[in-house]
Amino acid sequence: MNIFSPHLFRQQFPLIESHDQSLIEKDDLMPSLIYFDNAATTQKPRQVIDCQQHYYRNFNANVHRASHQLSSKATFAFEKARSLVQGFIGAKSVKEVIWTKGATESINVVVQSLARNILIPGDEIAICVSEHHANIVPWQIVAEQTGAVIKVIPITESGYIDVDEIDNIISDKTKFVACAHISNVLGRINPIEQVIVKAKSVGAITVIDGTQAVAHFSVNVQSLDCDFYVFSAHKMYGPTGIGVLYGKKKHLESMAPYQGGGEMIKTVSFTQGTTFNSLPFKFEAGTPNIAGVIAFAESIKFLGPLLTDVSNSYGLFEQKLVNYCYQALDKIAQVNFIVEGTPDIGVIAFTLTGHHNHDIAMSLDTHGIAIRSGHHCAMPLMAYLKIDGCLRVSLAPYNTVTEIDYFIDCLKNILLEETIEQSNSRVKEDVL
Ligand code: PMP
Repeated sequence: MNIFSPHLFRQQFPLIESHDQSLIEKDDLMPSLIYFDNAATTQKPRQVIDCQQHYYRNFNANVHRASHQLSSKATFAFEKARSLVQGFIGAKSVKEVIWTKGATESINVVVQSLARNILIPGDEIAICVSEHHANIVPWQIVAEQTGAVIKVIPITESGYIDVDEIDNIISDKTKFVACAHISNVLGRINPIEQVIVKAKSVGAITVIDGTQAVAHFSVNVQSLDCDFYVFSAHKMYGPTGIGVLYGKKKHLESMAPYQGGGEMIKTVSFTQGTTFNSLPFKFEAGTPNIAGVIAFAESIKFLGPLLTDVSNSYGLFEQKLVNYCYQALDKIAQVNFIVEGTPDIGVIAFTLTGHHNHDIAMSLDTHGIAIRSGHHCAMPLMAYLKIDGCLRVSLAPYNTVTEIDYFIDCLKNILLEETIEQSNSRVKEDVL
C-alpha cells in the first residue's frame, strides 16, 4: 500500500502550512517560505508539537521517582518511547538505548566513558575526513588526554568513504573507528558495512554517526553489527535537545558513567561510596528531557512506517526532488558541485564561481528561501576540498518541485544582478 502522499505530508507541518495558507488567503502564488535547511533541523509535524503540549498540559511529572499516578503515567510514556526507538533501530535490548541531548553528547559519552579509559599512547583512532565536528573534536580531546593518534580516512571523488584506502589506515593499532553513515555536506550513503567489517578484523570498536541517515532509510544496528550508533531526534521530525546513544550491552556495561547525580545510582553512602544503577539509567544522570522523549516517540510513529513501507514512495519522492534540483543547478554555468554526481539523499553542496556563498544565501533569504552557507561544521572537509565554505541545499519530502523552480529562478536572477553590479563597479574603477 502506498502510504505517502507528498501533498498530505506537507500539510502535516504547521510552520509550512501556515505560510501556504497565507498565500491562499492573499491569492498569491509566490512562496513566502522555502525551507531548504533540513539537514540542519527538520520542521516538526503537528502530532509531535501537540504531543509535547499534551504532556505538559495533562501529565507533567518527573519520571521513575514518585509513587503517584501522574509520575507513573509520565514514566510509562517515557519508557514506551525507549521501546519504540529500540524497534526503530532494531536494537536487541531496550537497555541498549540511552537518552542523550543529541548526537554530539552521544559521541562524547562513548569517548569519555570508554575511549578515555582504554586508549594508551600510540593507539590509533580512525575517522573520515568528511566528519562533522561532533565526530572529530571529542576524538581530538581524548587523543590529547591519552596520547592516542588520529588517522584520517580519505573520500573518493564522488564523496564516499574511500574503502580502497581503509587497509592503509586501519591496522592492529586502531582501537576505534568513527565515521558518519552520511556526511551532512556530501549527502552520500557511506559504505559503512565494509568499514565495520574491516574494523572488526583488527578488533577495533565502531562508532557510527547516523545523524543524517535515520530520517532517510531504515537502519538496523544488529545487521550493521556496529558497536555504537548515534543520532538526534531533531533531524527526523522530532524535538531538539533529545538524542540517542545505541551501544552494545557488553560495552555499556563495562563503561564508567558519563556524569554523576540523581537517577544514575543504586545506593549512595558517605561510608560505602556509590553503586551505580543498571542500564540504561547508569548513563542518564538528573531529570531527563521528559517532554522531548515523549514527543520523540511521536516522530518515530510518524516516520517509521514511511521508512518501512514496501513501496518506498517517501524515499523515491525525496530522490525525485534531489535529482530535479541537482539537474537544474547543473544547468547554471557558475555552479560547481563540491563532489561529483547526484547525492543519495536531499543534500546538495556547491559553490558559485565569482560569487560569495554568504552573499548568495543572504540574497536568497530576502526571497524567503532558507539555505545554509559556511563550513557546515566540517572544516577539515573544506580544507581537504580546498574551499573555504560552500552553499548547501537540503531537501525533505515536504518540499516541492515548485519550490525548487522558484529557488532556481531566484538564484539565476541574483547571479545576474550580482554580475551586472560587479561589471558596473569594474567600469567605474576603470573610469576613475
Ligand atoms: N553529525 C552529523 C553528521 C550532523 O549533521 C550533526 C548535526 N548537524 C551532528 C553530528 C551533531 O548533531 P547535534 O547537533 O544534534 O548533536
